[in-house]
Amino acid sequence: MTIKAAKLLNGTEMPFIGIGTGGKAADDSTTREMLRKAFDAGYRHIDTAAIYGTEHVVGEVLEEYIQSGRLKREDVYITTKLAQCNHKPEFVRPALKCSLKRLRTDYVDMYLIHNPVTYQNQGTLEQFIPDLPNYKFDVEHDIAETWHELEQLYKDGLVKGIGLSNFNAKQVEYIVEKAKEIKPMNDQVELHIHFPQKELRHTCKKHGIVVTAFAPIGCPGKKSDPKYNWPSDGPIDDPVTVKLAEKHKKTPAQILLRHLIQHAIVVIPKSTNPVRIQQNIEIFDFELSLEEMDELDAIDSRPRLYPMKINLGHPDYPFDDVTSQ
Ligand code: NAP
Repeated sequence: MTIKAAKLLNGTEMPFIGIGTGGKAADDSTTREMLRKAFDAGYRHIDTAAIYGTEHVVGEVLEEYIQSGRLKREDVYITTKLAQCNHKPEFVRPALKCSLKRLRTDYVDMYLIHNPVTYQNQGTLEQFIPDLPNYKFDVEHDIAETWHELEQLYKDGLVKGIGLSNFNAKQVEYIVEKAKEIKPMNDQVELHIHFPQKELRHTCKKHGIVVTAFAPIGCPGKKSDPKYNWPSDGPIDDPVTVKLAEKHKKTPAQILLRHLIQHAIVVIPKSTNPVRIQQNIEIFDFELSLEEMDELDAIDSRPRLYPMKINLGHPDYPFDDVTSQ
């Protein structure tokens, strides 16, 4: 199976599908098995972050596959993200070094600023645990200073690509304008048929920025967990998705993922279920017609699933749709 890739501004390529390792907490052995299954199924792109607590498992499984000769480092695209308490210039490089150590590699393929909202550093580079009572906003920090550090990491070869996550259209424009030499290559945001992010996509396209969709199938696993108050009829249950799945003899998730990659959007679904890990990558052997794409594109937008309200109140809180509710 050939996995197509999105071309980034610097000419490198990000595979259109990756496996997510964040979201609902899984123990290390579940994540380890998930990654083995993903590599065996053909995934060559892993999405992680300092705050997920999964980088060390990614490093372990990567090393296992490299040492056994099944993979070479350059076969795998690794995205990781800078935690919100490490935005100040003096913390950026040491934080990346911690990630590289956990990932058992000397570079990552894509390094993202996880969120535009900055927290004060409380003396640890290791993790940002948002519910620690002593984490406080840093409202003075200019996120462009963080970007300039990422530019330097890129120039030094520690990261092969740099980008953003959860930045809105205005904030993307701000970084493009303030970048010294290297513009953002990627913005990773919530994106699916019920939250299509049309304005942001337009801005990113204008600047040649590849968009990555997190929660591309609407994270249906959270429906059964009372802790999350998740909508019971998410993207996977939408009548249009279900109808097209029956028509193409594919699963609803495959329809949603195919829809996004046909829009040249990278997808990073997470599944710890071996059957679904396999199914989710089988999206390169069929095509949605223009009419079918239009039908999926015409579905009304709903409130985002991940408002990240812990960041509300900070001047860089990115989600205007939440603050205007
Ligand atoms: P998601 O990929 O849309 O959904 C994952 C959930 O869907 C899991 O509960 C999984 O359960 C279920 N699932 C997976 N495939 C399925 C299928 N074919 N049919 C039915 N259910 C299926 O949402 P997500 O995990 O929130 O997001 C994906 C990744 O994006 C994360 O892992 C993380 O890497 C990244 N992310 C980034 C940010 C950010 O701020 N940048 C925020 C959130 C997420 P099973 O395991 O039982 O299959």
